[in-house]
Amino acid sequence: MSEVIRLLPDHIANQIAAGEVIQRPASVVKELVENAIDAGATEIEVFIKDAGKTLIQVLDNGSGMSEMDARMAFERHATSKLRSAEDLFNLHTNGFRGEALASIAAISHVELKSKMDGQEWGTSVVIEGSKLVDQSPVTCKAGTSFEIKNLFFNVPARRNFLKSDGVEFKHIEEEFIRIALANPDTMMTLHHNGTRCYHLEKANLRKRIVDAFGRSYNDRLVPIEETTGIVKIVGFVGKPEFAKKSRGEQFLFVNDRFFRDSYFNHAITQAYDGLLASKTFPSYFLYFYVDPATIDVNVHPTKTEIKFEEDKEIYAILKSSVKQGLGKFNIAPALDFDQETSFDVPYSMRNQVPVEPQIQVDTTYNPFNTSTSRSSSGVRTDRSTAIMSAGFGNEEIKKQDWEDFYKIDDVEEKQAVELSLEMETNKQFIFQGAYLFCTTKNGLLAIHGRRAKERIVYDEIMSAFVLQPISSQQLLFPLTFDLSAGEKLLWEENQVSLSRLGFSWSFTDSGMDIEGAPAHLKDEGIQNSVQDIVASLSVSGLDKGEVAHVLISSIAKSAANQTIQWNTESANQLLNSLFQCPEHQYSPSGKVILNTLQIKDINQLF
Ligand code: ADP
Ligand code: MG
Repeated sequence: MSEVIRLLPDHIANQIAAGEVIQRPASVVKELVENAIDAGATEIEVFIKDAGKTLIQVLDNGSGMSEMDARMAFERHATSKLRSAEDLFNLHTNGFRGEALASIAAISHVELKSKMDGQEWGTSVVIEGSKLVDQSPVTCKAGTSFEIKNLFFNVPARRNFLKSDGVEFKHIEEEFIRIALANPDTMMTLHHNGTRCYHLEKANLRKRIVDAFGRSYNDRLVPIEETTGIVKIVGFVGKPEFAKKSRGEQFLFVNDRFFRDSYFNHAITQAYDGLLASKTFPSYFLYFYVDPATIDVNVHPTKTEIKFEEDKEIYAILKSSVKQGLGKFNIAPALDFDQETSFDVPYSMRNQVPVEPQIQVDTTYNPFNTSTSRSSSGVRTDRSTAIMSAGFGNEEIKKQDWEDFYKIDDVEEKQAVELSLEMETNKQFIFQGAYLFCTTKNGLLAIHGRRAKERIVYDEIMSAFVLQPISSQQLLFPLTFDLSAGEKLLWEENQVSLSRLGFSWSFTDSGMDIEGAPAHLKDEGIQNSVQDIVASLSVSGLDKGEVAHVLISSIAKSAANQTIQWNTESANQLLNSLFQCPEHQYSPSGKVILNTLQIKDINQLF
C-alpha cells in the first residue's frame, strides 16, 4: 500500500492557524497595535477603512526592523520575544508566539515599511497570501507601518461571515480601548473612514479613562489602591449610580495585559453589595501586578483568560479593597448629619413614585359598643369578637354573640357563591409584589404584571411597526447620551428602524441628543431603552430580521419597567389587552406570564 500521509504545505498550515488567531478585523488591529507596543513605540496611529474590510493601517515610532527581520517576521513561530521555555514564565511583552504576522499574511495583502533608528534606508515588504511579492529599500520614517488590505480575500467563508461595519468597528474600538487603557503613556489615535474617533495623548490613568470615555467620567471614578505581598491592585471603580446596562466598561489587567475573569468580576460585584440598581453592571478599570511566575497566560489562543496561582487570596484582597474604596468615598451608606431634606432611600426604590398607604377604616366601629355592629368590611372583626367573647375566659357568654357567629357564616357563604357566579364580570384582584392575582370560577389566576405589560406593548408596537411608523413624542428637553464612535455607527446603521419606532435624534461630538421617543416611554423608560438598544446592538451582530425584535423588545421591556399604578381599572385593562395577544402565555423573551391555582390545588395544601 502506498503512503497517504503528507505534511501540509506552509501556506495551508498558516491559513488554518490564522483561523484561530484572526477571527475578524479587530483581531488584526489588536495584534498589530500590541506589536507596536512591544517594539517600544510611544506614538501609535491606527487608520481604518470600512471597518477594516478594506484597510487596516498601523503606524508606530518603535524600534523598527532590519531588512532580514522584516522578512523573517512573517514566518510562523518567528519571534524576538521568547528564547527559551523559561521565558514563558517571565513575560513582559504582549506577543510571544510568533504567530500573528504569519497568520495575517496568510489571509490578506500586506505591505510593511520599517526603518530602524539611525539607518538611512528602510525596507518595504509586500506579501500576498503568504507569498513574498516584493522586498525593496524605501525612504521612510523610523518605526514601522503595516498596511493590511483585502482581509480574508482567500477565505470567502470568513469574509462573508463578517458583520456590518458598525458591529465590526465596535469590535475594533474595543480592542483599541483595551490596549489604550493598558498603556496610558503611549499616545494613540484611531481614525475611521477619514474621521478621527480617538486622540489619546500620553497621560496618567485617570486622564486616559476620561479621554477615552468622555469628560463626565472624571466625576464617576473612585480610586482603588492596595499593596500586599501577593498582589498590588490599582485603578478605579465607577460610582454605583453610574452602573451600566451592559458589561461594556469592565476592564481587568494583569501586568498590563487585558484579561477576563468571571471569578474576580464576582468579587467586585460583591463589594458593591446592595448599592447597584438591579441588572446594572459597575464600571471598573483595575490593574493587578503580580510576579509573572505566578500566572499562566498560555491557556487560550487569543489570550484573554489567565490562570492565577493564588486566585482565592486575590479574590479576597480585591473584594475588600473595592469595598474599602467605595466606603472611603462615602458611597456606601454612612451617617450624614448634614442631610436635611431627604431620607436615605434604598437604591432600588429611589425611582418609585411614593404611594400613600391604603387603610381601610371601619366607620361604624364603636369601641364603647359591646354588642357587635355590622358592616361589610368588619365581618372578620365581628366574627373574632364573637369567638373571643365565647371562648376565652369570658364567663358570661352573650347570646347575641352566638347569633352573630352564625349570621356571619351565612354571609360569607353567600358571598362565596355570588363571587363564583359573577366572576366573569366582577373580578376581584389582589396586588402582591410582582404579581396580580385574580379570582376565577374555580381558583386564582396569577399574573406576572411586568411581563404581561411587556407582552402587550411588544405586540402593539410590532403590529403597528409593520404597517406604519409608531407614534412619537417630541421631548421638551432633549436627553443627552454619551456614545462611542462605534456605537454611533451602530445607531446610524439602524436609523430607518429606529425612526420608524418613534426615535428622533441628532448626533453630537460626544454622542447624541434624543429629541423624540416612542410614546410608550416616559423619561426614565427612554433612558433605559436607549441604553439597552445600544448595548444589544453592540453585543451581537444581528441579522436584519432580528433587529426589529431586539429593538421592540428593548422598548417593551423599558415600558414595562415603568411603575404601574395598580387598581381594579388598570388591572382589568391589562387583562383585557393581554388576552388579545395571541401569545399571552409568554413574554417576548419566552418567560411565563400567567398560571392558575385551582381550588383543587389549594385543597392539596391542606
Ligand atoms: P510575536 O509578537 O508573538 O513575537 P508576531 O508574529 O506578532 O509575533 O511578530 C513577529 C516578530 O516581528 C516580533 O517578535 C517582532 O520581532 C517583529 N515585529 C512585529 N511587529 C513589529 C513592529 N511594529 N515593530 C518592530 N518589530 C515588530
Ligand atoms: Mg505579536
